[in-house]
Amino acid sequence: MIVFDLKCGGGHVFEAWFGSSAAWEEQRAAGLVACPICGDGEVAKAVMAPNVGAKGNRAAGPIPAPSGDAPPAEVVKAAMEMIAAAQAKMLETSQWVGTAFADKARAMHLGDEPTAQIHGQATAEQAQELAEEGVPVAPLLVPVVPPERRN
Ligand SMILES: [Zn+2]
Repeated sequence: MIVFDLKCGGGHVFEAWFGSSAAWEEQRAAGLVACPICGDGEVAKAVMAPNVGAKGNRAAGPIPAPSGDAPPAEVVKAAMEMIAAAQAKMLETSQWVGTAFADKARAMHLGDEPTAQIHGQATAEQAQELAEEGVPVAPLLVPVVPPERRN
């Protein structure tokens, strides 16, 4: 296989692959080679100009990932602070139970303890078990510093 840079009557430059140089001559003579942009059949080998960077309509390299949708860092920070504030407000009426969280949540779910708002620590395994038992628990949106570590 060989690749040629071709140019149509409209000035579009494009690449075309052929089995051989003879195949290119045959296909061009038969009118089988047309510009992919405008369909012009008047194509010829483009003049090679190694020192010219721009090659018409050819896309160069991979398409860059779209940028501009990502919010600026300060917007993300402000959003995180809002979430943290909302969570702190929610936790005002909630009792910190630390590592007893899984046991307490289960006991409340089973009716062994009066229902109350609690939050605490649970391992991923405990959280998984609670979810499987149908205990309504939700992960905290932002990490909470245990009260005993605040002093
Ligand atoms: Zn063209």
